[in-house]
Amino acid sequence: MANHEEQFKKLVSHAKEYGFIFPSSEIYDGLAAVYDYGEYGSELKKNIRDYWWKSMVQMHENIVGIDSSIFMHPTIWKASGHVDAFNDPMIDNKDSKKRYRADVLIEDYCAKIEAKIDKEVEKAAKRFGEAFDKQQFITTNPRVLEYTQKIADITHRMNHDLEVNDLADLKKLVEELEIACPISGTKNWTDIRQFNLMFDTKIGSVSDEANTIYLRPETAQGIFVNFLNVQKTGRMKIPFGIAQTGKAFRNEIVARQFVFRMREFEQMEMQFFCAPGTEMEWFRYWKEERMKWHLSLGMQPENYRFHDHEKLAHYANAATDIEFNFMFGFKELEGIHSRTDYDLSRHQEFSGKKLQYFDSERNESYVPYVVETSIGLDRMVLAVLSHAFCEEKLEDGTERVVMRIPAKIAPYKVAVLPLVKKDGMPEKAREILEMLQPLYMCQYEEKDTIGRRYRRQDAIGTPFCVTVDSDTLTGNTVTVRHRDSMEQERVSVDRLAAYIAEKMK
Ligand code: ATP
Repeated sequence: MANHEEQFKKLVSHAKEYGFIFPSSEIYDGLAAVYDYGEYGSELKKNIRDYWWKSMVQMHENIVGIDSSIFMHPTIWKASGHVDAFNDPMIDNKDSKKRYRADVLIEDYCAKIEAKIDKEVEKAAKRFGEAFDKQQFITTNPRVLEYTQKIADITHRMNHDLEVNDLADLKKLVEELEIACPISGTKNWTDIRQFNLMFDTKIGSVSDEANTIYLRPETAQGIFVNFLNVQKTGRMKIPFGIAQTGKAFRNEIVARQFVFRMREFEQMEMQFFCAPGTEMEWFRYWKEERMKWHLSLGMQPENYRFHDHEKLAHYANAATDIEFNFMFGFKELEGIHSRTDYDLSRHQEFSGKKLQYFDSERNESYVPYVVETSIGLDRMVLAVLSHAFCEEKLEDGTERVVMRIPAKIAPYKVAVLPLVKKDGMPEKAREILEMLQPLYMCQYEEKDTIGRRYRRQDAIGTPFCVTVDSDTLTGNTVTVRHRDSMEQERVSVDRLAAYIAEKMK
């Protein structure tokens, strides 16, 4: 098994064993692509959501938040294009009976060619040593150029097929590339069909076609249909943004890769309304701003990259993904899209209500343009967990698993631990716990050896362990043990809260 697959498996079982993420309905053997967050996972998720909300809403005077419902008028999904076009091309392997997304099969094929390019680069870097110029190598080496051209040709053809809905040619492409089913190993494929990803259900007690409604597949439409409400009640002046976080539902064809692709998941979206003609400027602004947000967590810049879209949705005039280096390679974590005036215009058309803004500076009314930032909260949790998961061999020959979760978003910030369960230490430790509890999520543990308790806190990613020992009783100082370096410092109890606040910045 490839090393990264093994690592990923270990991460998934660690997440379960330590109360981050459980398979849903586990005692009934689970439900595919649905997960529950445990006591540490739900804290982590909440902290990421809060960190996003703070940076988007609290830190921008021209962005406000809303909380719209999951059920909405069904015509909304007609207007947004989801009823007619929110499809994925699916294909089945007749031998394994496994279902795939045809575009994903092709993308995986391209990723394999990309891996070959990386190998060539690696080999050349070794050969040339210090003098190696990567940029020059990938733009001149004949083999690399051939690979790059191949990827470009395949991607171009696939995008064209998807755009004009030429599913027959898409199947031909799968056949020409001789893509085999990873399970059966055969190339015995069905035709490709389009599959709508929206879940539907019935509203009210009468079960007929007219009562069909959808579980929202994105939170954005709840923002669009409230655009005028918020603009008026919040007295918002363009440019301004509306943010929201909440559940979204997609009947994904392929359920794999843990919380990367779920059928029920959470999004954090912001729609930024601006004047026509200014959208590219705002697109660049949000691209940079969102990357800064990611980098502010300190999870290494080399784990992120932009992927500008070659194929744009018919309503978009620019789009990029922020990709993260998950254990299974670089994949989309967040999308930033310039959606023009498409959504508001469509809702204007379908609802018959004017969705315009009077711009007093320009002295004209217009349908605003929109730049959106859209990130999957669960994917962000997975990015954090993948970055954090670390198996370490220590100098004394022992091993530990440590979750290097950025302190700002760690589920628990502090563990208060009496060195031993006697001599007044538990009482003193509880006093300190009570002092810190209003400020931070804290744990108290007195069972097991101190070493074991440290390991347990490492495994759930607690950045600070505060240990109460005999010196605490006489000198009112504690040791603070740092999760990543395992170094310990002596800190006065009076300064402890401020000390932790300082270290968490
Ligand atoms: P993908 O191509 O991976 O299916 P997408 O381009 O359809 O994603 P968007 O519609 O742009 O995704 O949704 C915005 C964000 O929502 C994505 O960047 C991703 O983080 C998250 N997201 C989308 N689908 C899922 C899912 N099934 N499970 C978890 N997160 C998701």
